[in-house]
Amino acid sequence: MNNNTPYPNYEDTMSEAKQIADDSGAFGKYEEIGYSGEGRPIPLLTITDPAIDASEKSVVVFTGGTDGHEETGRASTLALAKTLLKPENATHLQKQVVLIIPTTNPDGAVLNIGPTANGISLNSSYPHDAEPLTCEADAIQTLIKEWIPDAYFDVHGLAGGSLGDGVYLYPTVNHRWSTRVLSEIGIELDKVAEQCGFPQGHPHLWLENVPSLNKWVARNQSGFSMLLESTEQYYPLEDSVRSMLPRLMHLIKLGEQTKFFQTIPNYPCDVISGNPICALMPFGDDYSSRRKCRRDMAQMIIEGVPYFGREAADPDWTATLTLPVEESVKTLPPGLVFQATLDRRATITKVLWQDHILEDSLWRSWDNGIGIVARVEIPEPPTKGDNVVKIKYEVPFKRHTTI
Ligand SMILES: [Zn+2]
Repeated sequence: MNNNTPYPNYEDTMSEAKQIADDSGAFGKYEEIGYSGEGRPIPLLTITDPAIDASEKSVVVFTGGTDGHEETGRASTLALAKTLLKPENATHLQKQVVLIIPTTNPDGAVLNIGPTANGISLNSSYPHDAEPLTCEADAIQTLIKEWIPDAYFDVHGLAGGSLGDGVYLYPTVNHRWSTRVLSEIGIELDKVAEQCGFPQGHPHLWLENVPSLNKWVARNQSGFSMLLESTEQYYPLEDSVRSMLPRLMHLIKLGEQTKFFQTIPNYPCDVISGNPICALMPFGDDYSSRRKCRRDMAQMIIEGVPYFGREAADPDWTATLTLPVEESVKTLPPGLVFQATLDRRATITKVLWQDHILEDSLWRSWDNGIGIVARVEIPEPPTKGDNVVKIKYEVPFKRHTTI
């Protein structure tokens, strides 16, 4: 055994996690979600206001210590837990369930090595369509499958290391859209760190071929997913935590905003396919049902949705959105939400679903300052073949004519 693991080592992390829960009143709960290969417990801190049901909140997961020798991931996630439990942050706990696993790799921490005790990296233990490669990965993925988090952040880094600082971004199945969203948030995070006096070094990378949990969450659940490096350029550990904590709190605030064409506050994971001109979004009355729907939609897309799109130029003043579902699809979500943006002078006259007029209660529209946004809720699963929404509207001008 290597006794040189810097603070916080595995034992430090376990005792601090328990202490944080003990000191938190009802707002923090300590549990163990499984065991490492050598039989050490994997801790989980659940931080939220228990008076408000999880179905009314966003869910976010933070992990630290995925590489066992990286102590700043453990220190930063513990610091996040303590910060969230301060009275001034109580409103965040009313809006979110924050799940923190401060050490995902207990054996790696004890041995002061990157991978697990049997030499497998937890960064690449989550094949897309197969079982996880280690018991640690299995315990963590089981938690992820149960909660279907809206966002997942893996916090890395070791104080005074030689790597650069920054963030890795993991596009969802809707990579054309999610790449833009992730990049924008990545730049925000860089600015937050820089304003605290910690310049960021990494280019923003996406690790396409590494089967990490970040990649699994982004692909299989269409979650908002990032890996953050602590400021490895900085000694002492406290400086690394000082650079990371404002970024983690910035991400917490992100989960309570409506950005990127969202209508309900959440992490930016709601545009599962499409873009602000025509978007496919999760259906459901509360956060929990939307989370399940989002996972089902991601699965449906993987299983056989070749595209989702809007016909060009709205012939006959009709915005036509088509979701083709191939025979190979096994997973169908319980409902669908379509959103589209029309010319700002448009007035919607009727909405059709599969050529039937949709009752008024199932759609609404509003002016968002850029255009007229139409939101159409379909309270039934899609069928195999084309699923088509048509939004008919009037405008106070004539179409360009062609000869
Ligand atoms: Zn690492």
